[in-house]
Amino acid sequence: MPASSSSSSSRTVVVVGYGPAAVPAVQTLAAQLPADWRLVVVSATTAYWPVSALRAAIVSGWEDKPVASVEHAFPHGKRHVLVTGTQVVELREHSVLVDKPHPELGCEIAFDYCILATGSKYAYPCRPRVGATVEEAVADLRQTQRDVAAAESVLIIGGGPVGVELAGEIGEYYGGSHGRPKKRVTLVHSHDRFIHQDGWSDKFNKSLKSQVEALGTKVVFNAKVSDGPTESGPVEGGSHTFHLDNGETVDADFVFVAFGSSPNTGFVGEFDPATLNDKRQVKVRPSFQLDKYPTLFAIGDITAVDESKLFAHAKNHGAVAAANIIALIRAGNSASSTTPPKSYKAGPQLMIVSVGTKGGAGQLFGFTVGNWFSSFVKSKSLFVSDFKKMYAATA
Ligand SMILES: Cc1cc2nc3c(=O)[nH]c(=O)nc-3n(C[C@H](O)[C@H](O)[C@H](O)COP(=O)(O)OP(=O)(O)OC[C@H]3O[C@@H](n4cnc5c(N)ncnc54)[C@H](O)[C@@H]3O)c2cc1C
Repeated sequence: MPASSSSSSSRTVVVVGYGPAAVPAVQTLAAQLPADWRLVVVSATTAYWPVSALRAAIVSGWEDKPVASVEHAFPHGKRHVLVTGTQVVELREHSVLVDKPHPELGCEIAFDYCILATGSKYAYPCRPRVGATVEEAVADLRQTQRDVAAAESVLIIGGGPVGVELAGEIGEYYGGSHGRPKKRVTLVHSHDRFIHQDGWSDKFNKSLKSQVEALGTKVVFNAKVSDGPTESGPVEGGSHTFHLDNGETVDADFVFVAFGSSPNTGFVGEFDPATLNDKRQVKVRPSFQLDKYPTLFAIGDITAVDESKLFAHAKNHGAVAAANIIALIRAGNSASSTTPPKSYKAGPQLMIVSVGTKGGAGQLFGFTVGNWFSSFVKSKSLFVSDFKKMYAATA
């Protein structure tokens, strides 16, 4: 659906995806593009805030916190076009193909420059159901709250930040008071500590483990669920016995899938496999341009920039990419020979993992931070006001 009418302009910057990486890029471009240039933004989903989506799936009253319309964050009443509920399915050197024909643009949208900002693929509830409207995404979260409320035992498969945060939300909300009886929660993780990648300290990991255990979660390290589902949800037919590859079993009537995130770069790899690294992330120069393709840019979670995949970093990518596109446009028709003026330096190593509203732990610039600091900075608010501000949403 178009949010505003397009002009007959033939000079176009296409932005694919409208997450936290893309919004600052679009705002910078809208303010600075010459009058005969337009933006076309293609967004597959509503605006969605994974940071608060886990609490929204558990805690009644939080269901509308991770969802907003993308429309209000878009420069309305101008020549630019917002195409929502639509996926880019093919990338070409000077155009993208979308899965639904647009009334004015058709199925193939030509561009002079393109910014790829398609983010990460996660299981629900870290991402909404594809095609869900704002109302449907909120209704899905409310339904998951009811399903979890009805469950007696929950199996969480995967103990990275997502699995740990889920265990924290369930453990705190179903703490045995306010008429909410405790649930049996088991978290199965295939490594010997939660945040197992190099550079994350034992102190940080131990703090997370002791906090989720204190909230009642049984943690099983060094094991995989052999017969788990691929999607989160209530177990059909009620409680089921799941098998682990260490010989143990877990009975559960609700399963959260908390593993398997990957960059949304299938269509980029099909365009040119050499643009991706072995993690299927897009290789970019410090200007965010793709090697060999100076009119193509990639920003946010999909990039191979050597930093944690965080909105805290992603939101800084867009302004750099946008400034470089503006500079190339001003330099004239010479994208391949002009050196863009702005370079991005990878952000510092940082992470805060919440454990309910009062707990959490993190590692910032090499220092471990505990529950008080984590709660103050992240766990209480989950940065919802940043999200609503980004999308100019009122609720
Ligand atoms: C549980 C959880 C907690 C987190 N906590 C934090 C935190 O505390 N701090 C922090 O900084 N980060 C946190 N993050 C990470 C943060 O959410 C991501 O880094 C951020 O969302 C990345 O932004 P992005 O714009 O690159 O991608 P995304 O947010 O994934 O947005 C990409 C957009 O592109 C769209 N899209 C995808 N494919 C297509 C296509 N083919 N065509 C059109 N549109 C498409 C999607 O619909 C989506 O809207 C957390 C993530 C999770 C899951």
